[in-house]
Amino acid sequence: MPPKTFTEILLGGLATDGGLTIPEAYPKVSKEDLAAMRDMGYRELAFEVIRRFADDIPAADLKVIVDKTYTAATFRSDDITPVKTLEPGLHILELSNGPTLAFKDVAMQLLGNLFEYALAKDNAEINILGATSGDTGSAAEYAMRGKKGVKVFMLSPLGKMSPFQTAQMYSLQDPNIFNIAVKGVFDDCQDIVKAVSNDLEFKAKHKIGAVNSINWARVTAQVVYYFKAYFAVTKNNDEKVSFSVPSGNFGNVCAGHIARQMGLPIKKLIVATNENDVLDEFFRTGAYRPRPETSHTSSPSMDISKASNFERFVYDLVGRDPAIVKALWQQVDGGGSFDLAKTPYFAKVGEFGMTSGVSSHADRLKTIRQIYEQYGVMIDTHTADGFKVGIEHREVGVPLVCLETALAAKFDETIREAVGREPERPADLVGIEKLPQRFEVMNSDAEAIKRFIVSHTG
Ligand SMILES: *Cc1c(COP(=O)(O)O)cnc(C)c1O
Repeated sequence: MPPKTFTEILLGGLATDGGLTIPEAYPKVSKEDLAAMRDMGYRELAFEVIRRFADDIPAADLKVIVDKTYTAATFRSDDITPVKTLEPGLHILELSNGPTLAFKDVAMQLLGNLFEYALAKDNAEINILGATSGDTGSAAEYAMRGKKGVKVFMLSPLGKMSPFQTAQMYSLQDPNIFNIAVKGVFDDCQDIVKAVSNDLEFKAKHKIGAVNSINWARVTAQVVYYFKAYFAVTKNNDEKVSFSVPSGNFGNVCAGHIARQMGLPIKKLIVATNENDVLDEFFRTGAYRPRPETSHTSSPSMDISKASNFERFVYDLVGRDPAIVKALWQQVDGGGSFDLAKTPYFAKVGEFGMTSGVSSHADRLKTIRQIYEQYGVMIDTHTADGFKVGIEHREVGVPLVCLETALAAKFDETIREAVGREPERPADLVGIEKLPQRFEVMNSDAEAIKRFIVSHTG
């Protein structure tokens, strides 16, 4: 595609041929840059990293956006993403102190402010339509609440989310947030979103947009905390650090890959999957085989059958040749798969520091119990997958940082099963289930949902 600016990509989503967007070249950080970054606080560091991508946003504007996004009021401390050391060389990077207690807040909160900024420039509006089984939808709503020019129409399956997740979303009273509880399951919600998005005339006329995990700005926001954690666990910039990343759509670990390409001294990026192991299979064998079915597991936010951001990594792996990526994804989009095992590209996986492993429900329970007994720290089910696989790949003398992608409080059922007690919840969320809720119950009917959107937009 002809190159576009960061802001155009921010609002536009996919490339014209359906592919994902990626910078023509990654910005590099020099030794001097790294030295200067080492002592920066989160906001300063975020500005330094993101400005290298958001090159069409004037620095002064970007600074304001970053400063108002990453506050102690939203993320519970000025550290934003604190690192906790469990023992020498073993660390947990806390990414889940935002409003919805999962790492998606880190990127989504920035996205909310970037959207508002970009829309205000052209006096434009966007109506975000999404489907959620819990996590992504709530992160999007908390990021977009009260934002000028933005309305959110979020479909969720009536009565299928946990009481806590339901309360988090439905208790929002902001007039620009519309929770639509669909009489059906998550797949029905997703089908409606697809049906509406495929109606191109409706989509254009009513300015329908999305905030899914392929959004490039979200990836750039996630690059920041790899830098933050690196500086937190090292004394100088000659040391190398490995990261273990609980993975689903490959957005989080893709950000780690980009940090490494920028010059952050990362040794390994450890891709941890649950029973939905399409990524682990690729990193072990070279075959990428999206699955016809997704298993429902106790780390549900990693339940995926294909990993949407994986395309970005493969682009780098095949030497940044768009024709090769296009050919591979034509196979995938046609319901097929591809196998790089016998190509020179697969041998390069190691050069990119990538490795992987799988974690099961039993592994999750065992790991949650172990970390709790050994260190007194309660981790959630997704983070447990990361620890399980990370520890398998741990090397002597290389600090291992395990990314915490959600708080245990969100998954109390499995936590009870693992350690026989309730996880703690941040004080301000105690009793959230008792707050008044605001939502619309609707049939699983795309036309009815379209009418609802029309009647609630200008
Ligand atoms: C989204 C999510 C993941 C997976 O992250 P990707 O960027 O899709 O790989 C892992 N854990 C939790 C808690 C999540 O919400």
